[in-house]
Amino acid sequence: MTKFIARNEGFICEHCGKTVEAIKYGGSYRNHCPFCLWSKHVDTDIPGDRANKCLGLMRPISAITRRTGEYVLTHKCEKCGFERYNRIAGDDDFEMVVGLSGGA
Ligand SMILES: [Zn+2]
Ligand SMILES: [Zn+2]
Repeated sequence: MTKFIARNEGFICEHCGKTVEAIKYGGSYRNHCPFCLWSKHVDTDIPGDRANKCLGLMRPISAITRRTGEYVLTHKCEKCGFERYNRIAGDDDFEMVVGLSGGA
């Protein structure tokens, strides 16, 4: 069983330097920057556990659409190459998400 630890707290993005506030809508926890969509490799198998020692920055490399119409980002760690899917949040820069998905 995979536990899910909900974290919803603000942080300063290490990629674009903007201050990111906790999610207000469209998601339950924040795992990437809504401005540049970059994430950080802090979790192990359990989302939100913050137990990973890698701490590499994770580049958003693509976005896919699920059958439900929900967008999912693929993040790839610049340091160790690990890839992970992340649901987008309601306040993510949607044009950037669409750009990653290859659609218009
Ligand atoms: Zn950012
Ligand atoms: Zn990593």
